[in-house]
Amino acid sequence: MHLARFPRLRFAHLPTPIEPMENLSRLLGGPKLWIKRDDCTGLATGGNKTRKLEYLLGDAIEKKADVLITQGATQSNHARQTAAIAARMGMACEILLENRTGSKDRDYLVSGNVIMDRLFGARLRDYPAGTDMNAAMQTVAEELKAEGKRPYVIPGGGSNAIGALGYVGCALEILTQASDLGLKLDHVVHATGSTGTQAGLVAGFAGARTGIPVYGVSVRAPRPAQEANVYKLVEATAEHLGIKGAIGKEAVVANSDYVGDGYGVPTEGMYEAMRLFARTEGLVLDPVYTGKGAAGLIDLCRKGHFKSSDNVLFIHTGGQVGLFGYTGPFDDMLSRRNDAAG
Ligand SMILES: *Cc1c(COP(=O)(O)O)cnc(C)c1O
Repeated sequence: MHLARFPRLRFAHLPTPIEPMENLSRLLGGPKLWIKRDDCTGLATGGNKTRKLEYLLGDAIEKKADVLITQGATQSNHARQTAAIAARMGMACEILLENRTGSKDRDYLVSGNVIMDRLFGARLRDYPAGTDMNAAMQTVAEELKAEGKRPYVIPGGGSNAIGALGYVGCALEILTQASDLGLKLDHVVHATGSTGTQAGLVAGFAGARTGIPVYGVSVRAPRPAQEANVYKLVEATAEHLGIKGAIGKEAVVANSDYVGDGYGVPTEGMYEAMRLFARTEGLVLDPVYTGKGAAGLIDLCRKGHFKSSDNVLFIHTGGQVGLFGYTGPFDDMLSRRNDAAG
């Protein structure tokens, strides 16, 4: 797994820190919880998409692209990071946003990630929930080609075998840091959506034969679909890395018990996780991904899924800016909770 074989540009502040969460570990009565701060990748307030975009842009530049096209939900963190990179590269950026939650809330539609997309100069196009966004991107690509442009289409979340290399790199980075810290890692837990993060981590940890299990907490798809999608990308990524067939299906675990009513729809567990991380560790999670991922982590700790002596690493994949697209529901939640706490 020699990543230097693949073209890559540098946008992220790496390595991101690994920090202990001693207060939260104590509150939950074990295991030993650690956090990998991929919310601190630097560019445009950070997040996990920047690692993937380093490899995607390496490929785009090799193909002499002059405009990036991508898609996501209205409050897409991936769109924000793509828009920032396009600005930095002097490239045009076309972003297709699907209002996946059907929300009409003003903050959801204009604040958080959306205001940053616009600040970076991306062109935004809005689509209703349920649109075939891949087909819509192809239509935009054809339009641009007809104008003589050289578009590069980045799939939602930057999740293909090229983007996933960013998280193969993250797995290798974690192994180096764990060795330096003398930290024996027993589990890695994170929120999984478009699958590139989990596929890259699994390809990295399993490809390096570490036996460190990766536990995905789904924020959208039911378990069988999410596990199948992640595994499909694990296989493609392994092939891209030159280790085709090296990783079995059993390496992919994705629990969908914490999705609630759907993608981007708040849950009680997510609120509780955000409040606990904030009030024990001073850490900000996001309502769509890390809040639900951490709700899963907390529930697994309470259910005794881990041994109390285990070291469990939660990957903070970013997304805090999205909180400002959810100010209404959050205000309600904080009022209720604070009243209940007296
Ligand atoms: C996109 C995203 C994820 C999920 O990563 P995937 O690679 O899409 O599975 C997790 N957390 C945040 C904050 C994200 O923006």
